[in-house]
Amino acid sequence: MKHRIELLSPAGDLARAKIAIRYGADAVYLGGKKFSLRSRASNFDIEDIAEAVRYANEYGAHIHVTVNIIPHEEDFEGLEEYLKTLESIGVTAIIVASPSIIKLAKRVAPKLEVHLSTQMSSTNLACVKLYERWGVDRVVLARECSMEQIRHICKNTELPIEAFVHGAMCANFSGRCTLSNAMTLRDANRGGCAQSCRWKYHLMDKDEMISEPEHPFSMSSKDLLAFEHVYDMMKANVASLKIEGRMKSGYYIATVIKTYRMLIDELERTDAPLSPQRVAYYANEFTKAENRPTCYGFLDHEPDEKDHLYGINGAGVTHDFLAVVLEDTNAQGWTKIEVRNRFAKGEIMEVFGPSIDNEQFVVEEIRDTDGMILDLCNKPMTTVWVKCPFEMKAEDMIRRGVRHDC
Ligand code: SF4
Repeated sequence: MKHRIELLSPAGDLARAKIAIRYGADAVYLGGKKFSLRSRASNFDIEDIAEAVRYANEYGAHIHVTVNIIPHEEDFEGLEEYLKTLESIGVTAIIVASPSIIKLAKRVAPKLEVHLSTQMSSTNLACVKLYERWGVDRVVLARECSMEQIRHICKNTELPIEAFVHGAMCANFSGRCTLSNAMTLRDANRGGCAQSCRWKYHLMDKDEMISEPEHPFSMSSKDLLAFEHVYDMMKANVASLKIEGRMKSGYYIATVIKTYRMLIDELERTDAPLSPQRVAYYANEFTKAENRPTCYGFLDHEPDEKDHLYGINGAGVTHDFLAVVLEDTNAQGWTKIEVRNRFAKGEIMEVFGPSIDNEQFVVEEIRDTDGMILDLCNKPMTTVWVKCPFEMKAEDMIRRGVRHDC
């Protein structure tokens, strides 16, 4: 393999950016409060971005900032200054979707890499070659590319190529959709998509309702889960694997990034495709983050009706996230944790973190902060102590474990 493939995580705020970096992301993309799509997912002011850069540097990671607004005339006000500031605080790259912003960035902030956003729907070599001539430093391919097309593009360009492997798909071509605008005045191309495609609708033929009232119609895609294609992407010389989800929780980010980190490290070590047993292992790991139905997107076939969700919303956040570790385990084997979901004495807990891979134990003893013995924890955000046979570190996460009977 020619290079180490980059694992690129989303982050909706500084806390999640730090989680992504600690759990193994090589780079994090985030949106500033201005000039970014997904404005609802963007909580970074300049101080936060500077802190994210400082934190990333400690881990040898990079920060990419989305400046992917489709700009109208009035949107250019302050943009030049903003780009210069991003450059001066050490941001590695900006992600853009407008030729005018590419041109401006190259002129006023030449040290910033310019990555072409997936909003540009790059699905063929000719457009990648064009962006090469424009001085773009990386192209984020459209989610609508097949594996064969990704291979072909990577083989025939010197430009680093970024490809999506995980997260939500858009039922239209990545935001080229007016559903949300028309129904909620929230513009999908200006960061406001209300995911109207996932709402429930009655299907009408003229005046006749043809969907059954108890089975309303929806039209969202299943989510992309393409970890089985990571080895192919490494072989194809893809530069970066992109995870979607700036709205996702810290637990989701930790679970998904940790799992991809383990996967990429394993593939680099073995330089061989995953065995069926390892495929099953990783598939199970990803369900611990969320259980929304998934598909391979466009990677191995044109999506068909099996890759869509008609009639069900499919939302499926698990309630397996139990707690966050607040302090390192003490000398007596007690660990202070913050509760997130209900658990009881006798349950199996699974601990994972930057330096611990899915260690399980049975909760034998729980105490509250006054030292009183508890049998049940059912109040989120309260602090309790649990006895554990191995050491946990502050900020490790705890989820529900599974008993493996032989
Ligand atoms: S409403 Fe659905 S199809 Fe339209 S942009 Fe949003 S996610 Fe895509």
